[in-house]
Amino acid sequence: TKHQQQQVAAAKPATPKAQKTRKKILCDTPPAVLQDRKGKNEYNRGKQLGEGGFARCFLVQNRDGTLFAAKTVAKASLVSQKMRTKFLGEIAVHKSMQHPNIVHFKECFEDTSNIYMILELCPNKSLMDMLRRRKRFTEPEVRYYLLQLLGALKYMHGKKVIHRDLKLGNIFLDRQMNIKIGDFGLAALLVDETERKMTICGTPNYIAPEVLFGQKGQGHSFEVDLWGVGVIMYAMLCGRPPFQSTDVNSIYERIKNSEFEWPEDLIISHQAKDLVGSLLNRDPQSRPSIDQIANHSFFISGYFPRSIPKEAMTAEPRWP
Ligand code: ADP
Repeated sequence: TKHQQQQVAAAKPATPKAQKTRKKILCDTPPAVLQDRKGKNEYNRGKQLGEGGFARCFLVQNRDGTLFAAKTVAKASLVSQKMRTKFLGEIAVHKSMQHPNIVHFKECFEDTSNIYMILELCPNKSLMDMLRRRKRFTEPEVRYYLLQLLGALKYMHGKKVIHRDLKLGNIFLDRQMNIKIGDFGLAALLVDETERKMTICGTPNYIAPEVLFGQKGQGHSFEVDLWGVGVIMYAMLCGRPPFQSTDVNSIYERIKNSEFEWPEDLIISHQAKDLVGSLLNRDPQSRPSIDQIANHSFFISGYFPRSIPKEAMTAEPRWP
């Protein structure tokens, strides 16, 4: 998200410009009925669902009584042309995504103060919130969530979109406990596969080494999302990200060397460890492809649930 992106920038003393911290301008509480300027698209606004770097998200209901999430951005927060372009980019990318494991983008409209993105409602919050309560997930759950994530990623990459900010906090859960990738704030639409993205972005714990230490002129590509999958998988199994440290610079140093350890007190299968190890490869070209990941023995080395029970939100499910 924008906010976290600024945190990364602020933590990198190398570029003085990046040290500036921008105050976040969130929208005021929107009217009780959201309408576009022509008075169409009526939604009754409910409670706030959450807030991020530059958006507040509200529960809304259309005339049929269907519930959605309205991600609301104050026009006043889009101060520069660069930000407006970026924001329009997020909308364009998200709008073009239609996949069962990607938050559905219904429509977008504005009134005089705000821009509203009407999104599929994910009432069960993010995998981050769930992991906090649960501490860690069982391997059957990791198989289930990971395969859904891979499906969504394969779809995105097929459409030449790199997400670049995959993390547990950006992966939401729907009512049936299926995952939905949300937040395309950092997604990059590649013109062609050889184009390389040069910008430094992402969240410190999840950022790929080539994004941080890429050689000049080389940039980075789809493989950054596979690194992200590795970080997510480790975090699901252990309850904390692999390169956690007290200060950002030592996180970066550990990422650079892909330096991580497995906790000794946890029982984690060697198949799971092997897969994480291959994803957290410093060399982007050596990481497995999405198909290779899906064919890894981890996915057939134990129980694969048909669905995840709702109770898993708060307590470890018991598998046969
Ligand atoms: P930002 O891009 O500003 O960081 P986010 O997309 O992260 O904004 O959204 C902020 C918060 O709003 C999230 O942490 C989450 O709690 C909530 N949220 C976002 N999208 C949805 C959704 N589709 N359904 C339910 N809650 C959502």
